[in-house]
Amino acid sequence: MSEKTIYESLQERGISRRDFLKLATLITAALGLEYAEMPRIVRAMETKTRLPVIWLEFQDCAGCTEALTRSLDPTLTKLLFSDISLDYHETLFAAAGAQAEENKRRVIEEYAGRYVLVVEGSIPRKDQGVYCTIGGQSAEALLKEAAEKAKAIIAVGTCASFGGLPKANPNPTGAVGVDTLVKDKPIINVPGCPPVPEVITNTIAHILLLDKPPKLDPLGRPKAFYGQTVHDRCPRRPFYERGQFAESFDDEGARKGWCLYKLGCKGPTTYSACATIKWNGGVSFPVQSNHPCIGCTQPDFWDEGGVYNALSAPPGAAEARGLATGVAAAGGVALAVGHSLYAKKKKQKAAQAFQAQKQAEASQQAQEE
Ligand code: SF4
Ligand code: SF4
Repeated sequence: MSEKTIYESLQERGISRRDFLKLATLITAALGLEYAEMPRIVRAMETKTRLPVIWLEFQDCAGCTEALTRSLDPTLTKLLFSDISLDYHETLFAAAGAQAEENKRRVIEEYAGRYVLVVEGSIPRKDQGVYCTIGGQSAEALLKEAAEKAKAIIAVGTCASFGGLPKANPNPTGAVGVDTLVKDKPIINVPGCPPVPEVITNTIAHILLLDKPPKLDPLGRPKAFYGQTVHDRCPRRPFYERGQFAESFDDEGARKGWCLYKLGCKGPTTYSACATIKWNGGVSFPVQSNHPCIGCTQPDFWDEGGVYNALSAPPGAAEARGLATGVAAAGGVALAVGHSLYAKKKKQKAAQAFQAQKQAEASQQAQEE
């Protein structure tokens, strides 16, 4: 493996100092950092050598990997693939079988304490984990083996972060997320079904370049990308404020781009960068393409109330909604305020429920051991 610094590798590919500084500026912005932090990124790229990433995939649909390969941020994606490196990835790897497993073990030993472990998919615990095994080892054993010497772990997707769809009621495989099983490493949750590709690459780059996890919210998600709800930045928000709601997918309101709240939109309680970074290079995102947000970055979203059921009315919003149907702007504002309080309470409740669930799972695990 090359011991050249990232800067030296870029120079070798004909990147001038001027272009290198432009690249560092772009990366600083992509990581959600202040411009004043740019010299740190420059220093990191000048001094850091290519750093390995091990990507494990367990119970999932491979959608997060699919998303990663669709990242249209050429600078970061290229940096990760060419200069920082993806040393083991079961889906993308050319090698297979014993050769691939051998390479993974070599990276674990050679780069102990320096590699980043990315986990995609949930981990089944029921029936000794028989529902997901690779090379004769259970997902749980593989996770613990790779986690032991990792610098940090990124749980990519809602399955790895919170258990996701495999954990949906009745959770037939006993699926759990990474932080139920690993307690002694920094874990960064990057949920989404799948997450926005640039959020995945930016989070990996943040750890590799700055040597520390980004600032996290109470559910372990990077605040830079999960600090606002879809609703906060939704282009349909003016219709919400005016109380203009589509009542069905093909009515006049839907054709005019009105708010999808009554069609089950979970945007007011869902924290994600969908509405800002968007998908396919910033072309669109689900709500912009006429589908309500289903809340895929939140724990247990699949079991919470039904995809097309409207959120229950926020406290104090009933009167506001009455006004809203009369197309009263004041009603829309009251509803929005009610919703923001509701979203805050719901966020606190979700964080409490998440912690309680983790404690229950930990105590169950302790009993089993
Ligand atoms: Fe957008 Fe949904 Fe909020 Fe309506 S409820 S403004 S569609 S996020
Ligand atoms: Fe997930 Fe909502 Fe974004 Fe759709 S709009 S991808 S459900 S966070």
